[in-house]
Amino acid sequence: MRLLEERILKDGKVYPGNVLKVDGFLNHQIDVGLLRQIAKEFYNLFKTEGITKVLTIEASGIAIACMTAEEFGVPVLFAKKSKTKNISDDLYSSSVESFTHGVVNDIVVSKEYLDENDKVLIVDDFLAQGNALKGLIEIVHLAGAKVVGAGIVIEKAFQPGGEEIRSMGVRVESLAKIKSMTDDGLCFCD
Ligand code: 5GP
Repeated sequence: MRLLEERILKDGKVYPGNVLKVDGFLNHQIDVGLLRQIAKEFYNLFKTEGITKVLTIEASGIAIACMTAEEFGVPVLFAKKSKTKNISDDLYSSSVESFTHGVVNDIVVSKEYLDENDKVLIVDDFLAQGNALKGLIEIVHLAGAKVVGAGIVIEKAFQPGGEEIRSMGVRVESLAKIKSMTDDGLCFCD
């Protein structure tokens, strides 16, 4: 998505540890117009799939998921991060190691809001090692629901998550794919 790539080049900042900061338009201050274009792009990619729910993980996925869900006319469900082990009968849970914070969170979703009739589009801001996405996929599978695919705003394609999850047979659509990233600049995949 050209508009998104241009914005990353203009406002993205590369930090040590392969972290790209996009706080100026996606992760802290949010450019709602850009987010709407992103949501429309996800809708175009997945509109024939009969999506019933858009799933993401708190916190930075929520705004993206809300605008995407509005395009599809379906609810958003976001997995909550919990520091304590959740063994409640009412929750689906999965353990996820955070790329940016290095801690392991149990992520949880109430069983009330996801079941075997759901066709789920997972969305998130970044795909790096793939841990967040794998945790969300596990939760959908625990519910007996179907993962229709994943819509990712920025995939760091030099990290292994995208390849691993595609090799699991999950359709992953990333709107900007970064091939390489150094202090001197960014390079996108073709
Ligand atoms: P993964 O689980 O694929 O390693 O990382 C995905 C999660 O980590 C995303 O939900 C995102 O919040 C965060 N993340 C991964 N890489 C980056 C990055 O370069 N910049 C920012 N801002 N967040 C990232």
